[in-house]
Amino acid sequence: MEPVTCYIKERSFLARLAARYMGGHQIAMVIGRTIHLHGTSRENFLRHTWWVRHEICHVMQYRELGLVPFLWKYFWECIRVGYYANRFEVAARAAERDAAIMERVKIV
Ligand SMILES: [Zn+2]
Repeated sequence: MEPVTCYIKERSFLARLAARYMGGHQIAMVIGRTIHLHGTSRENFLRHTWWVRHEICHVMQYRELGLVPFLWKYFWECIRVGYYANRFEVAARAAERDAAIMERVKIV
């Protein structure tokens, strides 16, 4: 299968809002195929292999479900079981140890 092209957006306004809401300093969040960063540089983010794998897993989840269905299900999970137990987050945390996930993407 062709690798999925992913993008990185530094100093993202959306990630800044998420950081304010979640109370984090360094944050990465995925919308579609773009990883939005706040409080961290592209270089610093890419140095953390586990972190990149985690966000790539979210890219795959978007790809599987489609943009709007993913967002809908993701937020519904958050309301229902909270952020930590959210099945999309559980899967993304498991992906942090999955080196093979990187073969499915090309980060530009
Ligand atoms: Zn996550």
